[in-house]
Amino acid sequence: MTHRTPTESRSSGADCQFPPVAADNVERVRRTIISWFESAARPLPWRDPDTSAWAILVSEIMSQQTPVSRVEPRWREWMDKWPTPVDLARAPTAEVLHRWDRLGYPRRALRLQEAARVIADELDGQVPQTAVELSQLPGIGSYTAAAVASFAHGERTTVLDTNVRRVLIRLFAGRERPTPSPGRRETEWAAQFVPERDHVKWNAGIMEFGALVCTSRNPQCDDCPLNDICAWQQAGRPASAVKRTTQKWAGTDRQLRGAIMDVLKSAHAENAANEERTGHRKSTRLEETGNGLPDAVSIDLFVAPTSQIDPDLLDSLGQATSDSLSTMRNLTADSTRVSRLIADLVDDGLAERHQDSLSLPR
Ligand code: SF4
Repeated sequence: MTHRTPTESRSSGADCQFPPVAADNVERVRRTIISWFESAARPLPWRDPDTSAWAILVSEIMSQQTPVSRVEPRWREWMDKWPTPVDLARAPTAEVLHRWDRLGYPRRALRLQEAARVIADELDGQVPQTAVELSQLPGIGSYTAAAVASFAHGERTTVLDTNVRRVLIRLFAGRERPTPSPGRRETEWAAQFVPERDHVKWNAGIMEFGALVCTSRNPQCDDCPLNDICAWQQAGRPASAVKRTTQKWAGTDRQLRGAIMDVLKSAHAENAANEERTGHRKSTRLEETGNGLPDAVSIDLFVAPTSQIDPDLLDSLGQATSDSLSTMRNLTADSTRVSRLIADLVDDGLAERHQDSLSLPR
């Protein structure tokens, strides 16, 4: 028999998953969150009133699954380099991936550039204003569309990220964690909390409250201004039946894919620095043999046994590329696995194959 907490037993019926909420509680939570946000919000640069819709869109994409502390320096760098969608649309994809740096899930960078190209080529460089229009862009899901429409254009939308969902589920449904992704019923349920006025502050505030107070692992319940009406707190904080998803890294294909890409990014960066220094492209042995481009790395260097690697190939690498290659090779000696991941990266558009060498996409 499956053990369920009393709250989860009660909530097994469809109606109890997202229970009705008394109007005075809705109003109390709105007022509390908005006033808390006005005094406690972090001064994130994309919250500056002069921030463009494009800059807000970039911040939202970068912040998915990546902590704000890692996003902020990259976001500033991107905004300096590509302040408009047209700038990003025209940038070499290799440079875009290089400057995505270690934000993780680099396909987000590709999709962002695809969105920039649509905005540049079909929308006269203007970021769409409504959530419905935004959601037609490549890589823009319902959450991002609602967030950009709210924060950039002031549309009254329901912004429902993981933080918001967790706060609402704890406060009003008495459960520790939401399900992995929201369905239509949850989205409709959450919409009732969005006020007519101050809806932008509500959307930003409830997200921030989930990020800083009602956190996933250490909610600050003792200091929480909603402690007295929180259903999860009143139920004794029962553990959730929804398992916490932990993102493993060490030993995973994701780690190895990242290490392969680090080699390509290093080769790209060293080649770009060399071009800037000398004013011309350096011809490499790979290029001279017609087997590659200046920033391409021989696939042998990724997969061949150490004893069979041509020393000239190793010597042709810059120091950073050589170091990245050593790091990558130390992760695994399984050449079949590395070959499979290289093929995946090429299929995903994150790398480009040139006969027997590999580079970031042009
Ligand atoms: S009392 Fe705890 S669980 Fe409830 S809203 Fe506040 S921080 Fe979250």
